[in-house]
Amino acid sequence: MSRYFGTNGVRGVFTELTPELALRLSQAFGLWSGKEKILVARDMRLTGECLLSAVKSGLASVGCEVLDLGLCSAPGAELMLKKERGNGLIIVTASHNPPDWNALKFVDKNGITVSRERGEEIEKLMEKAALAKWDEVKPMRKVPYSAEQHAEAIEKTVDLNKIRKANLRLALDFGNGTSALYSDMFKKLAKVTAINSDIDGKFPGRPSEPSEPNVQNLVNLVKQGGYDAGFAWDGDADRFIAIDEKGNFIVGDKIFALSVLLKLRKEGGKSIATTVATSRAAEDIAKKYGAKTVYTQVGAPYLSEAMAKQDVAIAGEEVGGVIWRELSFAKDGPATAVKLMELMAEKPLSSWIAELPQYYNAKTKIHFSKEKKLEIIEKLSKTSKGKVNKLDGIRIDFEDSWVIVRASGTEDYIRIFAEARTKEKAEKLVKEYEKTVLAL
Ligand code: MG
Repeated sequence: MSRYFGTNGVRGVFTELTPELALRLSQAFGLWSGKEKILVARDMRLTGECLLSAVKSGLASVGCEVLDLGLCSAPGAELMLKKERGNGLIIVTASHNPPDWNALKFVDKNGITVSRERGEEIEKLMEKAALAKWDEVKPMRKVPYSAEQHAEAIEKTVDLNKIRKANLRLALDFGNGTSALYSDMFKKLAKVTAINSDIDGKFPGRPSEPSEPNVQNLVNLVKQGGYDAGFAWDGDADRFIAIDEKGNFIVGDKIFALSVLLKLRKEGGKSIATTVATSRAAEDIAKKYGAKTVYTQVGAPYLSEAMAKQDVAIAGEEVGGVIWRELSFAKDGPATAVKLMELMAEKPLSSWIAELPQYYNAKTKIHFSKEKKLEIIEKLSKTSKGKVNKLDGIRIDFEDSWVIVRASGTEDYIRIFAEARTKEKAEKLVKEYEKTVLAL
């Protein structure tokens, strides 16, 4: 078992992810990456600069060449990794977590995010990290990140004229995060009203996660009328959600399904990748375009691994993260927004949503101890029949519905999530499996 690594890097409040730990993890990552050129970046969290200093020091102390991007979005940092041909990247960001949290996200030289399993290899090296000789410590370089470079790369992948001609009106909620760095890009492409656009590590406007309750100010703004859509991101700008022109919140599942539609309609593709907890709508659309769906464990690192290994045209997850392989293997929120604008240039967002396969969800969570939750999954794994996927928890697929029972990776819960053609059926499935789990 990993001691520090979670699903996506090492995460914690300041007393858990301390500068000392950041330094030791960075030394180990430096060794793991071959003591070569490593890029580093941070978001705007108050502990970001402090932790970044420890990260830089750790890397340099084992002989790495450190390139510092400074304040940067997560997808922007990953694009820079590719551009600078770095041997690795560490991003100091706690993504959608509360302001007192921070995290280190590690990315390898191929642009693949380091998963819990690969993180264990890095942890083992923590004991072996030896200082470089004094004259082998290399000077650090600043490579200031400019969102303009990322914007240019994004713009090359869409039909800019089509977007500009549509004269879209957008309400943007940057959530005081790094997505605000892209304000100029949106201003060039549409008529924009922005809220929470001051980059601020205290997140004064709203919590970082762009969930429905957290973006009600944006919903209300769009409901006042006069907008084609509302867009919102999380703190490091890899997650993205939208509000349609009528003020309806569009969940991440649907953003991904629309992204699949756009990608396959335009360029075709052999397969798509998504997690076992994502709506079947994406698979339905892929099927329509002759592409198969590769399912992965829940977590962005597994999607980027699938992207690198297989013939996958696009990947995404239910929280509103889409990976566009023409840019990087990172979930790219600003790119997803601009791609969606290309669709909106044809017809209103609500019409696109109406065209998607309609599914309804239900979910619940049951409290169990750490040992008990794993024991239950094990038991359920033995008793489940039919089309069962055991990649991450137990997912059982039926004719036009499915249910997944998973042990939470970070909390002492079993989560049950179901999807069906009607709300009633989804709720019934959740109740049924809740009963099964409680009887185990
Ligand atoms: Mg994020």
